[in-house]
Amino acid sequence: METVATPKVKQVNENQCQQCMPLGGVVAFKGIENAMVLVHGSQGCSTYMRLTNVEHYNEPVDIASSALNEKQAIYGGEANLHKALDNVIRVYAPKFIGVLTTCLTETMGEDLKRLVATYRLNRGITAVDIIPVATPSYSGSQTEGFWAATRQLVAYYAQPTERHQGINVIIPHISPADIREIKRIFGLFGLEYTMLPDYSMTLDRPYGGRYQKIPPGGTKTRDIARMSGARATIQFGLTCPDNLSPGLLLEQEHGVPLHNLPLPIGLQNMERLVETLEELSGLSLPDILERERGWLLDGMADSHKFNADGRPIVYGEPEIVYAFSSICMENGATPVVIASGTRSNRLTGLLATLLADADEQPVILEETDFAAIDEAGFMAEANIAIGHSGGKFLTERRGIPVIRVGFPIHDRTGGQRILSAGYTGTLAFLDRFTNALLETKYDSYRELRKEEMGIREGA
Ligand code: SF4
Repeated sequence: METVATPKVKQVNENQCQQCMPLGGVVAFKGIENAMVLVHGSQGCSTYMRLTNVEHYNEPVDIASSALNEKQAIYGGEANLHKALDNVIRVYAPKFIGVLTTCLTETMGEDLKRLVATYRLNRGITAVDIIPVATPSYSGSQTEGFWAATRQLVAYYAQPTERHQGINVIIPHISPADIREIKRIFGLFGLEYTMLPDYSMTLDRPYGGRYQKIPPGGTKTRDIARMSGARATIQFGLTCPDNLSPGLLLEQEHGVPLHNLPLPIGLQNMERLVETLEELSGLSLPDILERERGWLLDGMADSHKFNADGRPIVYGEPEIVYAFSSICMENGATPVVIASGTRSNRLTGLLATLLADADEQPVILEETDFAAIDEAGFMAEANIAIGHSGGKFLTERRGIPVIRVGFPIHDRTGGQRILSAGYTGTLAFLDRFTNALLETKYDSYRELRKEEMGIREGA
């Protein structure tokens, strides 16, 4: 397998393939009940994060800022941070505030923990939990920010507690539709569980009712506190680094056994989840899931004769990239380029196993940008791509259709409703994938025939 890291001498990122680190933290914190997020940095950072979330989730997404300017960049941002916290508490009355650093405040060397501790002490704040997380974007992506914030939630709330029969479910950054599907599957197995984080309502609220500044929903902090007494943790985080893994923290500090699984996207990945749920619940596959599995197998049989024409580029965050590479492999469309803008010390090893029997080995790009992805895709004669809206130029420049999955989806509506998890979500994705290949085929069929005829005529 050819693995290509973006050369170290490359100083410029041309069209980045990742989102910034605190942005991932924002999404994780939005999955907590009665929560507000404050970004400690310049206004531009929080505006970018607000815009990206609003475009993807199609919801108002409030993110406060300590609004530092040149003066605070020199003399320190403590006063601004404290004032921002005052305002957030006054305007939103949250029970929890997640505070994230930015490139600016990390470069300034702001000691966020101390600043938050001083604030609590000076103001006598006891009714609001304030959790600071360091998210220097020059050393990580939205994936690391998401995991760091989620792990910090566990570290802060989970205290030694009595054992109970509940299961912890820890997710990476997936769509609210996928969260709802995973919850439905756990419900079908009759399991009591705590999902962390759960932004399936807070970032995808149904229309109706009076507007609330903090939308209802999210994981309850008292449920996070009980995660330390759970029977097991299922974490969808094969690529999650150990130092950011909330599931590993629960195992090492509280003795909760960790089942670290791939996202249940794709038949084989879904089978791994089902096996684990059967083991934990003592139940066999519920009838409805049995039927959904059958529909997926039927759909795979229907589409396999078309999928072998696919030469996909799969790009995005490591967990998403692994899941969609799995679907491609089990449906006969071996990826020709697999790429992530995020640094991962796990992804390449996982892909090596997944691709061991592939006839053609793909180019693997890590810490990469879209300039490199475009070039590798062109060289490998890619004809379809799977990933977020950042790759839309592949269509504009190369005519390669992009099947949109992951985050952010800002040039289509409904990013929050894209369902890829479970047997049902896998089948929905597969239909989109196969139909895109068919569309290309039918669009170019006459041109190809003309070319062939021309060659014959000229021969
Ligand atoms: S300056 Fe850093 S933290 Fe702010 S938006 Fe840009 S990458 Fe993110």
